[in-house]
Amino acid sequence: MSKEDETETVTFEELGVVKPLCSAIDACGWKTPTEIQKLAIREAIAGRDVVGLAETGSGKTGAFAIPILQALLADPGRLFAVVLAPTRELAFQINDVFVSLGAPISLQTACVTGGVDMMSQAIKLAKKPHVLICTPGRLVDHLENTKGFSLRSVRFLVLDEADRMLSMDFEEEINKILGVLPKERRTLLFSATMTSKVAKLQKASLSDPVKVEVSHKFQTPKQLLQQYLFLPAKWKDCYLVYLLDHFKEQTAILFVATCNNALRTTLTLRNLGFQAVCLHGQLSQAKRLGALNKFKAGQRNILVATDVASRGLDIPNVDLVLNLDIPSNGKDYIHRVGRTARAGKSGRSVAFVTQYDVEAYQRLETMLGKKLDVFPTQEDEVLIFEERVTEAQRLAMKELKEMQDMGEGVRGKSSRGNKRRMGGDGEGGGGDGKSNVFKPNKKTFNKAMSRGKR
Ligand code: AMP
Repeated sequence: MSKEDETETVTFEELGVVKPLCSAIDACGWKTPTEIQKLAIREAIAGRDVVGLAETGSGKTGAFAIPILQALLADPGRLFAVVLAPTRELAFQINDVFVSLGAPISLQTACVTGGVDMMSQAIKLAKKPHVLICTPGRLVDHLENTKGFSLRSVRFLVLDEADRMLSMDFEEEINKILGVLPKERRTLLFSATMTSKVAKLQKASLSDPVKVEVSHKFQTPKQLLQQYLFLPAKWKDCYLVYLLDHFKEQTAILFVATCNNALRTTLTLRNLGFQAVCLHGQLSQAKRLGALNKFKAGQRNILVATDVASRGLDIPNVDLVLNLDIPSNGKDYIHRVGRTARAGKSGRSVAFVTQYDVEAYQRLETMLGKKLDVFPTQEDEVLIFEERVTEAQRLAMKELKEMQDMGEGVRGKSSRGNKRRMGGDGEGGGGDGKSNVFKPNKKTFNKAMSRGKR
């Protein structure tokens, strides 16, 4: 497809989508197809297996849901499609899209993930929904333990966020599922990146696929204003409060490295009167969804999250992303800041760089191929908050201890086996625990930067 074709405005109808489905799409407020939808829908409707390289936020769910619904309309059947997704949250989101698009045709779906009891899921499966959205581990559990349940009638398989499923060690489960699916089926594979494992999976599961791509590795949206803040680790919370106070009308996601730090930061912010909720991999499924829903519904404007929330979650209208901890992996940074400045809207991200993060930050700038602007602050204005922040931190530590005593806190180091259940971010451990203090002026920063370069 030529560049010109890629940018032309087409309608869903022109892509070959049938009228009843176009009305359902319209009712979702989707006026024209996104880039990945333009490329993938046409091919999938034409009957091809598709490999789509696209990230969350690109509209990829519609890119596979629309052709599946169209095929279902043409030839109705039960347990018609299975969608595999790496996390419970993503599975629920995909389910929501199918439910919205399928409302006019009385589509029945089931979302089957871990963290929910098997029996109630078995009842749903016995009703044979049209579309089944699952995390791989739970689907295998049902294949092995739920009487009468099979995937014999499946005609469409979707592997969503394949790179992430494979990096979360779901390979064995996916292979088991592929082993029991009919060979005569269509497969749509979506992935943010084409890793060697994804290429292997593609070979094993797709037949003569067409490859469509819209993601550009390591690119951030043009409308995203990316900034950094150089600060002493000791005053991180103070700078955070200063920023949140500065942007108090805005919705923000704060990314931290560990579950423990997510909880500690949330408690500290709540003690200061901020409307913060926490999302990390050690929360129960109900609490994770509860937190996310409160944030989505606008009841809370601050979400403190580990990387479990950085990919795959559709959280609209986030104004601000704060990287309180610099991610060690550049791709995680891209996914984190990708929570703002979506669908043409503007947004801002601020990376908190302490004296300990200079090297990681430099690697990040090299990866991005550009220098970020500094977020301007006046130290004396920031430190106005110091006393209140210290008191809020003290209270938060007390609350954390009480929660630990009651068995509600965050566990320490996780085992590898926990990694998957915790959404891949199972690190425990404490907050920063570092106390070196120095003034974050330009001279110190430059010195630290040149030290880091050596
Ligand atoms: P996804 O990448 O599938 O998670 O979609 C990201 C967001 O884009 C979701 O909020 C969708 O509802 C929205 N979306 C998907 N397709 C379209 C479209 N064609 N026009 C406008 N919004 C869309």
